Amino acid sequence: MKRLLLLTTGGTIASRQMEEGLAPDMDGSTIARYLGEVMFNYNVTVQDILQLDSSNIQPEEWRLIANHVYEAFPHYDGIIISHGTDTMAYTASALSYMVCNIPIPVVLTGAQLPIEHPLTDGVDNLRTAFSMASSGYPGVFIAFNRKVILGCRAVKTHTMDFDAFSSVNWPVVATVSGSGLTVNEEAIPPVMGECLLRDKLCQDVFLIKLTPGLNPEIFDMLLQMNYRGVVIEAFGAGGLHFIRRNLIEKLHKIAAAGMIVVVCSQCLYESSDFTLYQAGQKVLAEGAIQGYDMTTEAAVTKLMWALGQTDNPDKVRDIFAASLAGERGV
Ligand code: ASP
Repeated sequence: MKRLLLLTTGGTIASRQMEEGLAPDMDGSTIARYLGEVMFNYNVTVQDILQLDSSNIQPEEWRLIANHVYEAFPHYDGIIISHGTDTMAYTASALSYMVCNIPIPVVLTGAQLPIEHPLTDGVDNLRTAFSMASSGYPGVFIAFNRKVILGCRAVKTHTMDFDAFSSVNWPVVATVSGSGLTVNEEAIPPVMGECLLRDKLCQDVFLIKLTPGLNPEIFDMLLQMNYRGVVIEAFGAGGLHFIRRNLIEKLHKIAAAGMIVVVCSQCLYESSDFTLYQAGQKVLAEGAIQGYDMTTEAAVTKLMWALGQTDNPDKVRDIFAASLAGERGV
């Protein structure tokens, strides 16, 4: 029997209706009871590590989760993490770097309706997660709505629909059907070395979604607040405004002050290409790093992680040039 570890962190799956609305209130053994006889197929250990709405899951919690995963992985065939859906894609991306090259499956899952609700999707999602966690395929994944998505390619795209997550610029890793769990092996990035815990993160990373006419002085504010990195979701394939309100001038200023700029597209699908337009080439000339086909979640957490490893801008650039867990395909 496969040895699986279920780590619980809260989220809707563990929530009950309280005075102020839904809030996590159930422990892991209560959640596991809803799986009934499915549990007899595995040797499951349950550990409650957090009880939070995932809006409250921040870099400190990512570190806690990463440490639990790293300490546990030699003793288990797979790890399941129950988690709120709202920031699950951020946690999955952060874990992809913090426990890079994990040799077992680490599968995050949750639900759109609490597990106690008669129509819950939580039981189904946990079943898929348990199946993926016992599959032997290494990596960090999200199991949801009978699909398994590579963690650093997942984006929450629906607030209510059970099909809450999309796999962006990457094929779905596995699906559940009448044939059971079918894994697309080509969608699983190879393990490229020993698994090391690298849990240092820099929280001073800001995300800006560019809007027409954005006031360039926002970058002065970021400098004043000691931000060390900024991810800019730019327009289309890649462009920023530089007439009337000159963002390029500001990029020059913040780069000179040592801030790292990563630029990606606000389009969800396909890749950035800042070489295409003048408005993009000017950005690259200021030393900005391209995000290409990375999701925003993967880019923001990668910048936090990279700045946690090094202060050297060239090394950050090298980290972004590599795909560490399948987050970058271009
Ligand atoms: N607010 C909840 C959370 O992220 C939503 C969910 O779990 O679906 O914790």
